[in-house]
This record gives sequence, C-alpha cells and structure tokens, in this order.
Amino acid sequence: MTSPSRIPEFSEEELKRLRLGQFLQFMLPIAVGFLVLYAVFAVVLRSVSLVGGTGAVLVYTLALARSRRLAAQGHSERAALLSGYALLVMVALGAIFVHFLFAALVVMAIAGVVLVQPYAERPALARYMFAAFGVVAWVVGVDVLLPPLVEQPPPALQRWVIALAELASVGLMLRMMWVDALRLRQSLARAEQAVAIRDEFLSVASHELKTPLTPLKLKLQALRRELAATSPSASPERSLGHIEMAQRQVKKLVELVDDLLDVSRIGAGRLELHPEKVNLAALLQEVVWRFEPEAARAGSALELEAPQPLMAWVDPFRFEQVLDNLLSNALKYGAGKPIRVRLEPLEGRALVTVRDEGIGIPSAALERIFHRFERAVSGRHYGGLGLGLYITRKIVESSGGGIVASSAPGQGATFTVDLPLAEADAPEAISESPPTGSRPRLS
Ligand code: ADP
Repeated sequence: MTSPSRIPEFSEEELKRLRLGQFLQFMLPIAVGFLVLYAVFAVVLRSVSLVGGTGAVLVYTLALARSRRLAAQGHSERAALLSGYALLVMVALGAIFVHFLFAALVVMAIAGVVLVQPYAERPALARYMFAAFGVVAWVVGVDVLLPPLVEQPPPALQRWVIALAELASVGLMLRMMWVDALRLRQSLARAEQAVAIRDEFLSVASHELKTPLTPLKLKLQALRRELAATSPSASPERSLGHIEMAQRQVKKLVELVDDLLDVSRIGAGRLELHPEKVNLAALLQEVVWRFEPEAARAGSALELEAPQPLMAWVDPFRFEQVLDNLLSNALKYGAGKPIRVRLEPLEGRALVTVRDEGIGIPSAALERIFHRFERAVSGRHYGGLGLGLYITRKIVESSGGGIVASSAPGQGATFTVDLPLAEADAPEAISESPPTGSRPRLS
C-alpha cells in the first residue's frame, strides 16, 4: 500500500487554540487603542464619562493581556473565560459612563458568549451565559430606564468613537471568519483523506486476506487427492507437508484478522491490558524459541542476548504480541541475514532491542511507520496492512513504555522498546514469572 499523504497540519484542538490566539492578538491592540483615545479625550475635555470609559477599558485590557499569557500556556478554557468575564465587567462599568454606546454595550455581552462557547464546558458556559444575561439586563436598566448618569462627550466625538468601534468589529469579524474558513477547509481535507485511506485500506486488506487463501485451497485440494489415493506420489510425509503449509496459511489469516480486530478495539478505546509482573528474559527466550523454525525457513540466524532476568509489569499476552510483531518484521524485511534480540537494563528501565541487517527504512519514514496503515515499502514487493507497528506502539505506550526505530536504507533496522522495570526487582520475584520454555498465560 502506498503511504497516504500526511494528516493536515492542525488538529481540531489546535484550530480552536489558533482561533482564541487570533482573537486575543487582534483584540489587545484594539483595546489599547480605545484606552489611549478615551484617556486623551478624558484629559483634554475633562470628561467624567470618558474617565469612566477609560477605567472600564483598562480592566478589559489588563484581563486580555493575562488571557493571552494563559492561552499561550495552553489554558484555553481559563483564557476564554477570563477575557469573557472581563468583557462583561467592562460592559457593566461602561453602561454607567458611556451612555452613547448603548447599542454596542448590549451586543458586546452577547458576543462574549460566542467567544467563550467553544472553550468552556457546559456548567462553566451556563454560568457565563447567566452572567451575560444579567449584564444585558443591567445595561438596559441603566441606559434605557435612567437618564445619562454623567455628562456625555460632544456628539462629534461620540460619532467618531462609534465609527472606530464599528471598524474594529468588522476587522475582527473578517479575521475570525478567515480562521473559520481555514478550519472548514482543513476538516474537509481530513474527511476526504479519511475516505481515501479507507478505500485504499479496503483494497489492500481484501488482497492481503485473499493471499493466504489461494495456497490454502491448493494444499487442501492436493491433500484431498492424496487421501483419495488418486495421486501416484501420495505419501504420509507429503500429506503432512501439505497440512503444515495449510496451517501456516490459516495462522496468517488469523493474524490478519486479529490485527484488524485490535485496530478497531484501539479506535474504540477497548484494548484492555491485564498487567502482571513478568520476567522479560524468559518471555523473550520463549518467543525467540517459537520463531526459530520460521527464521530457519527465511535463512536468518536468530540470536538472543538476555543475560539477566528483568521484571516488568506488562500484559504477557500483549507483550508477546509486541515481540511477535518486531520479530516477524525483522524476518520479513531482514533479507535472510542474522537477527539479534537483546535485553538489558538502563537507568531503571528494561531495553529490548530487535536488530536486523535487512532492507532498512528511509529516515523520513522512521516516525510515521508507527501510525495506522503507514508503510515504507511497496505493496507489490511486501505484503502487509501497515498495522503491526501501530498496534505495537499502542501496547508499549499503554504499558508505560516507548518504542523507537533507527535505520537507514540497506543498513538494517533496530527497534528499541523501553519499559519501566518493576519496583524491587528482587531475585524472589523471578519465581512469579512464567518458567522459560512454557507458554505465557493468555488473558
Ligand atoms: P506491515 O509490515 O504489515 O507493513 P508494520 O506496521 O509492521 O506493517 O510495519 C510498517 C512498515 O514499517 C512496513 O511496511 C515497513 O515498511 C517498515 N518496517 C517495519 N519493520 C521493518 C524492518 N525490520 N525493516 C525494514 N522496514 C521495516
């Protein structure tokens, strides 16, 4: 399968943050502009109304500066709520002084709800809407029911302030619409990409599922002929060979279906791990031992270096799956060259390394191969769904560990899994682990 193009740059969460960042970034100079304008005219005209307006805008400007810092630290909800409540305070104070801005003051409180709405959880949003409603009632009460409480600035200045406020709102609105359009475009691109990935995946998956079926069918036909004694070359050895081959194809099919099931479990958050204190050395030894016939068929020598028992809390069945994936990849892409598996402790962690000397991986693909459906080889030369390393990473990360790959084309590949060692890695703990050579308990 050819690798799908990368997911667009922004996640939904990042777009929300971008939107808030844009709003705060544009609102701050607007607020500072009005602060300066009000302050200058308050002094020049000795206007109480503009002194009050300056105070109201000052509260908002300071809160905006603080919100910007909060947003930069990733506290989007707090930042949005702070700037939203500061807006309400400004409107409530402004209603007492700048009577001529009545229409703007009523709209501002409602605009605050739109600002806060994408970031706040339901109870916080409900509280905010309640406060905004209260402030609107306050503005209407102060401005409509009472005469202006302080003398208003000259009408020419009032018109200028209103015109500037309208200009600032239109500018801000256009900017926010640009961010929304970007968000829409990206969602569309993501949806299109998801459909393309699904279509490609369906064709690859059906091909992969069908591949083992052809030899399976042929082997069963041959077996049937031999058992019916219609074949002159029939012998128990040949029949056994057919059965073994058929079993391998069935195993391949089971593995493919298991991978598909695991991916849907991961997607639904239902991949359950049942951690136990496991002796990793013993588990590795068993898996390597189980892979020996396959390695012999691929012509690769399989070496294990696990000089000391190391204990870790892992789900033995799932961790065996991790090792299975890494070893079967090393065999598949290892070009028949030796494969080395190593277990060693490092600063309170256990490092498991699987190294091969095969085709290697281009450095640009080293990170993406751990993602769903991602492959670094052509589907024509190597079969596979691009799911093994994705499942592997999910299992390792859910066990508190990590996995990295290092490689270069033609130079082989090294996969390193690190896991936290179980506390008190004492010798008596070793007896709790499955004995070497026995099957780990399947949970
Ligand atoms: P699959 O092997 O089914 O494609 P994986 O998720 O196991 O899926 O691996 C993803 C990709 O990583 C592979 O398609 C291959 O390009 C690359 N890869 C994995 N292991 C190795 C390896 N040992 N050597 C070279 N390439 C590898």
